[in-house]
Amino acid sequence: MRHDAASPVQYLKGVGPRRASLLERIGIRTVRDALYYLPSRYEDRSSPRRINSLNREETVTIIGKILKAELVTPGRNPRFKIFEIVITDTHGLMRIKWFNQAYLKNTFKPGMEAVFYGPVKTGFRGIGFEMQNPEYEIISGSDDDSSHIHTGRIVPVYRCTEGLSQRQLRNIMHSVVTGCESLPDSLPADIIAKYKLPALAESLMNVHFPPSSAGLEELNSGRSIYHKRLSFDELFNLQLGLALKKMKEEKETGISFRPDNQLIDRLISALPFKLTNAQQRVVGEILDSMKSEKPMNRLIQGDVGSGKTVVALISMLAAVECGYQAALMAPTEILAEQHYLNICGYAEKLGISIALITAGVKNRDYEAISSGRTDIVVGTHALIQKDVSFKNLGLIVIDEQHRFGVMQRAAFRQKGINPDTLVMTATPIPRTLAMTLYGDLDCSVIDELPPNRTPVFTKVFDEKQKNSIYTMMDDEVKKGRQVYIIYPVIEESEKTSLKDAVTGMEGIQAKFPAMNVALLHGRIPPLQREEIMRRFKAGEINILVSTTVIEVGVDVPNATLMVIIHAERFGLSQLHQLRGRVGRGADRSYCALLAYGMTDESVKRLQAMQETTDGFRLSEVDLEIRGPGEFFGTRQSGMPDLKVANLLRDTKILDAARKEAFSIIEHDPDLLKYPALRQSVESMWGKKLEILRTA
Ligand code: ADP
Ligand code: MG
Repeated sequence: MRHDAASPVQYLKGVGPRRASLLERIGIRTVRDALYYLPSRYEDRSSPRRINSLNREETVTIIGKILKAELVTPGRNPRFKIFEIVITDTHGLMRIKWFNQAYLKNTFKPGMEAVFYGPVKTGFRGIGFEMQNPEYEIISGSDDDSSHIHTGRIVPVYRCTEGLSQRQLRNIMHSVVTGCESLPDSLPADIIAKYKLPALAESLMNVHFPPSSAGLEELNSGRSIYHKRLSFDELFNLQLGLALKKMKEEKETGISFRPDNQLIDRLISALPFKLTNAQQRVVGEILDSMKSEKPMNRLIQGDVGSGKTVVALISMLAAVECGYQAALMAPTEILAEQHYLNICGYAEKLGISIALITAGVKNRDYEAISSGRTDIVVGTHALIQKDVSFKNLGLIVIDEQHRFGVMQRAAFRQKGINPDTLVMTATPIPRTLAMTLYGDLDCSVIDELPPNRTPVFTKVFDEKQKNSIYTMMDDEVKKGRQVYIIYPVIEESEKTSLKDAVTGMEGIQAKFPAMNVALLHGRIPPLQREEIMRRFKAGEINILVSTTVIEVGVDVPNATLMVIIHAERFGLSQLHQLRGRVGRGADRSYCALLAYGMTDESVKRLQAMQETTDGFRLSEVDLEIRGPGEFFGTRQSGMPDLKVANLLRDTKILDAARKEAFSIIEHDPDLLKYPALRQSVESMWGKKLEILRTA
């Protein structure tokens, strides 16, 4: 049977409306979705392990016949039940146990044959081996004639959903892939030949139902030649999209700024510090691209506290000097407010005018912006709304880029006529990955921190050690320093048992009656919030109890202690950002991470926080723990989702795909010679490509 990749799976043999809705739950609606729903792992059932050849702690597949099945109550608690079976594969016997899954007695009956996959453990009282809570699949006694799909070969195992068994899903997959022989292969033939890649249909078939010659290890790590071919396709299409965008931009003419450095020099002499070498270098790189006629598209990477703000301000002044407006977009209101206040401090001295646009600001003077009276506009994504229009927007700066997507960046740029663009991020990204995410951007790195910074001393505490945290708070405040204390949620709620900021605030005020304690969170009205931040900055508040609204950018050098409650709940980049709020002055700073119960992952995260303050190292650890998909939040960033490729694993493929994609676009920018390719790029990027093209 042949399928059209776009047709719904519902009409395939053996699917129907009920299963179609189950499939939709795992993201499968069309035949194409199914084709790219790859097995999460593979089991070698062509030669399952013999029960008499197993070693302790191996994870293995065994197949056997059930001799005995019973539900036992081993202890005094009548509710604690173990379901136990004994199987044989003719070479030996094996006991298999499931804890508290009494319903299994209806699944397994003596005489049935089944497959089990799980770790081998030492048996009860150290005698023999057993398996505990393995995955399983009944082989005999089922009513289809497709058993060659399920045993006697390398078998795919998919992520399932309730109501849809492994076996049913595997049958559906088999019928999907056997119908895909005629799927058009959009990858150009010379590339297929050059990299010795298998054909598309062959790859899809084999990635789901591998031949017995395929290596189990390669399959399981996604490194088989079939996986590679599919990853290549995906990364190639991704890079084509980026290449198209870059090509389009390079053909455009932007603004060629000719700053006379008047404002810039005045700012630099007004700064209370000297720019670091890295800041000077990056400023130079930015000014060079601003002078060029090509629209600038530059990414500034710099760890927390490396001084990105002043670099942004200098760039904006360069635009203002040349009679243009500049705009800075920040991811949160607090951060926008802070940038605004910060720049206000200099604006007066420099004689420039500045405005703040966030959801919370009433009485916005749109006219001042559209008439050009305002030189610099700072705001949140409220900046990209319809009512905001500029007279002549020359430079846009996007702070903390990873929070905004390609789409928002594009929408922002449309506020001007090919304005120069600067994006700043504190999430250091390994080079190859940066190329993928920001393949269309040039990159500058501020790889040096301002002098006299001492690394923040970080320690993990548990609930019993809470008092030592109070002592630290007391000590710091007595030294005239200030403290942040961060909670994961604003208020107590029935949904979670997490400690909350409102209750925390009361407790701390009671504990330290003589101190000024203030509460800050996203639901406090902006004017009040600004006032609290101002007072904290001025040193009038000793302890600021807050949620993560202060996560990025907030800058109060006199704050020397950061306490994070429920540190186990926060992601690594968030913890690093939060910790970055202290250690901004010359004084020794501390970060206390209070954890309530830990998972393996949170142990790894908090350990990493204790061991290093290097943002690059932390982002590597983060990447290892979470994998790249989640790390980047690709969906949010506006990049197409990757279904097959893994940016960590497939760096070589990425390099090759990037090279080929950029070379094709260079020779044939509209893909006229490759209509199938054009179509597949469009289907991957969808509407995003439209925006990219006009951005
Ligand atoms: P980030 O890169 O995290 O946005 P900021 O721009 O907020 O960092 O800078 C952090 C702090 O360092 C601010 O207090 C800023 O005034 C200060 N700073 C920036 N550059 C220098 C420098 N060259 N020397 C000393 N302090 C600096
Ligand atoms: Mg910043």
